[in-house]
Order: sequence, then structure tokens, then C-alpha cells
Amino acid sequence: MLEVDPVALVRGRRGASGEGGALEQYVNDRPYVASSFMSVALSRLFGSALAGRSQGRPELVERELPLVAHVSVLPCRGGESFLRRLLEPLGYRVTATPHALDETVPEWGQSRYFTVTIEGHKRVSELLTHLYVLIPVLDDDKHYWVTEDEVEKLLRHGEGWLAAHPERELITRRYLRHQKSLAREALEQLLGEELSAPEERARDEAEAALEARLSLNEQRLRAVVAELQAGGVTRVVDLGCGEGKLLKALLQERRFTDILGMDVSWRSLDIASERLDLERMPELQRERVKLIHGSLMYRDQRLAGYEAATVIEVVEHLDPPRLAAFERVLFEFARPERVVLTTPNAEFNVRFENLPAGRFRHADHRFEWTRAQFEAWAQGLASRFGYSVRFGPVGPVDEEVGAPTQMAVFSR
Ligand code: SAH
Repeated sequence: MLEVDPVALVRGRRGASGEGGALEQYVNDRPYVASSFMSVALSRLFGSALAGRSQGRPELVERELPLVAHVSVLPCRGGESFLRRLLEPLGYRVTATPHALDETVPEWGQSRYFTVTIEGHKRVSELLTHLYVLIPVLDDDKHYWVTEDEVEKLLRHGEGWLAAHPERELITRRYLRHQKSLAREALEQLLGEELSAPEERARDEAEAALEARLSLNEQRLRAVVAELQAGGVTRVVDLGCGEGKLLKALLQERRFTDILGMDVSWRSLDIASERLDLERMPELQRERVKLIHGSLMYRDQRLAGYEAATVIEVVEHLDPPRLAAFERVLFEFARPERVVLTTPNAEFNVRFENLPAGRFRHADHRFEWTRAQFEAWAQGLASRFGYSVRFGPVGPVDEEVGAPTQMAVFSR
């Protein structure tokens, strides 16, 4: 299930009042419809299928299968005829049920929302790719600012079908959010000759960057779990556990008998609980893990008595003036023997192709530290609270700018 948090969408956004007024920022259709969020979810959840890769059953990738996709609520600017003009040339049978704007006020007429089923003999990657590109095109909106690399993405995903599509111009313009120069560039490339070598290379790199990012999370979890194992730890608290990725990894290792996850966000805790399937977990397993709601800003009795604490990609979400409170809560009061803490290495950001210079990796980050800044902070607090600290890179190490993630391991 894809859940869109409409409030998080506007948090930290400046000067957005010109986009339809304050109310629309909070009350809108985004949580209820298939939109560019759906495309992001498709690429995250079905990344390898979308790219046409299968390690286990590579022969299936090339096979056309009788596939059906059902989209419960699809906004179509341009109505049913436009929907058909987009999908039927690709060889789909389309069934579309329109929805009234308000059933109780029929004179208001139809809304732009449809329940849509498409059917066709397709490769899985084709069907996913068509949905990935065309959902935001039908919606005619995107939740992020469209930049140059979106041209590359469109060309990559449009390979083999877009150039021949009768609506390729409209698809291109809408996909690039009506930015004329980008659309022109995309159409030129789309209809031009073979890609030049540098363009080919750019594509490969973009994909590699994407994949590296996917596995970075995995590498981080492994590095943290390895540190805890090496320390002979059995009782761990994960502070700012978020949606419970680390908790899940810890549960898979029997040595961790007592695992506590804490977060300030109820929403994240709900997701964590679902992800871990707490409700249906066998009792013996269930006893190993607990989730609590709490803030790192406040001294908390429940955090005492754990051998180790993990703080994974959390400190950069705290306002700098409040870091001191966090330091005391963890290192003075909870006082575990070992703390494993990770944060982005700001120096590495220049290696992310899709990240404009000077921007943070995540909209909610309050800061991102260079290696020197992180080490100075960590060393200062270690000596104030009687800990020793060592540092390690996580992810591929670049000679010049280091690794994407930096990790500190404190012991007392
Ligand atoms: N550790 C997780 C989540 C990182 S995102 C992971 O690696 O996937 C940062 C998390 O810190 C979010 O879940 C956020 O809700 C939480 N957080 C931010 N401020 C917090 C605070 N003051 N107290 C507790 N958690 C906080």
C-alpha cells in the first residue's frame, strides 16, 4: 500500500502560497489517487522488474504474459478519450469507469477521476514502464521539481515505444511539466539518431547511481549489525527507528534477545509495526521486540539498561541547538556501553548526479556534516561523557570525498 502524507508534502516548503493557497496544500487529492508518487513507489518496489531484470528466472523477463493492471483512482486531465489515446496505441484493452464530482450534486457533472483497468499481452517490464511514465502524464502533475535528469529518465523509460507513439509530443510535454526547453530537447533526442556515446554513458551512470543508492541502505544496516555482533551485544535500543528496517534485520539474528525501537513519529511506528508483522508474530519472537513512542530530546527511563544504542540517520533531523539535549539524554542518562551512530557525509553529495549543488539529500535534514565536522562533534562529546570513539565509512569509498555514509562507534 502506498500512503501519501499530505502534511509532510508542504513541510519545509517555502513560498508555496502561490500554488493555490494554504488550504489546498493540506486538503488535496494526493493521498487518494495514482500520481507521480505511484511512479516512485513502482520504481522502488518493482525496480528490477521495471528494468527487466530477474536473477532467479531470467527467461521470464522476455516473455509476453496476459497481464491486467487495475488502477482504482486515476486522475485523467483530458478525460476518457485522452486516456484511450494514450493506452490503446500501446495495445491495451481499456476499461474506464468515470466518477461524478459529487454523487449528491449530479449537476456538477463528471470529475477527472476514473477507475481504470488495462489488459494486454505484455512483458512485465513493459506494463510497469507504461504505467510509470503515463500515470503522471494523465495526472499532469508531479510532486517534485522537474530538472534536466528527467529528460534522461523519460528517454530511458520511453525506449522502444515512445518515439512511435502518436501522442509522443503531449506525453513528453506533460512528463516534463510543460518546460518547453526540456521538452524540445527530449523530442529532439527521441526522434534524432542513435544516442551518442556520452549520452549512453550518462544513462548507465544514472542507473548505477540509482542502484548504488538502493543498496546503500542495505550496506548501512549490515555495517551496523556487524558492529553490534562484534561487540557481543544482545540488548539493543534503536533510537529514531523510523519504519523499522534495522529492527527487522536485528530480529533475524537470534543473538539479539531484547530489541527496543523508539521514534517520535506515530506514523512511522505504525508502519514499523506492520512491517514487522507484530500482530501475527509467534509469541517467543514477539517477546524480543518492543516499539515505544518517545523523543530523543527528553530523558527517558525506558532507555536505561540497554547494552547498545543505534542512532541511524537521525541526528541530521535534529535542530542544531537541540543536539546538546540529545547528547545528554543518550550519553549521560541512558548511558549504554556502546553507541553506533550514522549520518550522511556531506562531502559525498557532489557524487550524486541528481542532487543539485548545495542541497541536502532529504528535505527534512537540518544539516549534513563533512567528515571533519562529524568527527569533531563526536570526539567532543565522547570526551565530555567519558566514551572513546572510532570512525568508519559505509558504502563505496571515493578517494577524494570519502564514503556516502559516515559511522561512529562509541564505547565506554
Ligand atoms: N533509523 C531509521 C530512520 C531514519 S529517518 C532508518 O535508518 O531507516 C529519521 C527518524 O528520526 C524518523 O523516523 C524521525 O521520526 C525520527 N526522529 C526525528 N526526530 C526525533 C526525535 N526528536 N526523537 C525521536 N525520533 C526522532
